Amino acid sequence: MQNFMQELIESGEFLTLSRREPALFEQPLQFDLSNGIGVQISGPGIISFSAQTNSEHTKRIVLSCGVHGNETAPIEICDDLVKRILTGTLVLSHDVLFLFGNLPAMDIAERFVEENMNRLFSGAHSKGEGLVNQERVRAKQLEEAVASFFEAADGERYHYDLHTAIRASKNEKFAVYPYLHDRVHSEGQLAFLSACGVKTILLSESPTTTFSYFSSHLFNAHAFTVELGKVRPFGQNDMRRFEDAKQAITQLITQENYAPSVDIRELDIYRVNQVINRNEEAFKLHFDDDTPNFTDYPKGTVLASEPGTDYVAEQDGEAIVFPNAKVAIGQRALLTVVPTTLEKLDV
Ligand SMILES: [Zn+2]
Repeated sequence: MQNFMQELIESGEFLTLSRREPALFEQPLQFDLSNGIGVQISGPGIISFSAQTNSEHTKRIVLSCGVHGNETAPIEICDDLVKRILTGTLVLSHDVLFLFGNLPAMDIAERFVEENMNRLFSGAHSKGEGLVNQERVRAKQLEEAVASFFEAADGERYHYDLHTAIRASKNEKFAVYPYLHDRVHSEGQLAFLSACGVKTILLSESPTTTFSYFSSHLFNAHAFTVELGKVRPFGQNDMRRFEDAKQAITQLITQENYAPSVDIRELDIYRVNQVINRNEEAFKLHFDDDTPNFTDYPKGTVLASEPGTDYVAEQDGEAIVFPNAKVAIGQRALLTVVPTTLEKLDV
C-alpha cells in the first residue's frame, strides 16, 4: 500500500489508476502531501484536496468532468490539474473536489454505457427500477461525495460540471444556469464564466435531474453545466481552444480571491422556451443532423414532429439546443431557447 501511494504522489496518475485498477480505491484513503495539502480519496475517480489555509475566505469548489464518458477535453483538463496538485507543482488556496464521472463509459469512448447519467441526479437514480445499472449507482455515489465535501466545512460553495457538446455550436462555449428558485443570478459567476471563454448563458427555468441543479438546489452552490466545445476522442482535442477555461479554473483554485469582471451586455443570455420530449418511436427532427446548437428559426417553423404532433418555433429567433432524436422514449429530445436579459444580479 505504501508503495502504491508513493507512486501516486510521484506520478500524479490518479485518473489512469482509477481506470486501470479501480479496486485500489475501493477503501477510502487519506494522506498529506509534503506541502501540507491534505488528500482524500473516497472511490475511483473521486479525489479531494484540503488547502489547509486558515483563511475565512476558503471556498469549496467541485470540478466534475466525464459525467458523459466521451467528453474528453474537460477530463484532460481535470486530470492535468490533479496531476499538478499531487506532484506539488500547483498549490491550492481553496478546497477542491475533483470528480471523474463515468469511468466505464470513458473506456468504451461513449457518452454512457446504459443510461445518460446527467438525468439521474437529485435522487432520480433510485426512482423507477432503482439502482439497476452502473450509471445509477455512480450518480448516487457522486451525490454522496458532493454532499460530504460541501458539509465538511464552512465556505462558499461552487460546482462546475464540465462537458463538451455532441454537435458544433454557433456559440462554441456556453453554460446552463440551473433554475434558482428564489435565489438571484450572480454577476461574479457570469464574470468567471466569461473569463473561461463562456459568453453564452442559458437560464433554466425549472427543476431538472442534472448534476449542476443538484448542487445548486440542495447545497445553495453556485453551480453550472459548462459546455466547453465539441466532443472529440482523447488526445485529439485542440487544447488551445480550452486554454481560457483552463487558465481561469487554475486561477480560481490557486488565488485567494480571483475576481474577474464582465460587462453583462457582452453576454448572450437565453431562457428556455420549450422542452420537447420524445414520446413516440417515430419522433423526428426537422433539421439536418449537424445543425449547430443555437441555430435560430422564424416563428412557425416546424422543428420536430411525431405522429399527431408538430413542434413549432413559437417566436422569431427561437433557437435549438441539445437536439437528440435518439434519446429514450419519454426523455428530452430538444430544447428551444429565446434571447432574454437579466434584470436583477447579485455581485
Ligand atoms: Zn455532456
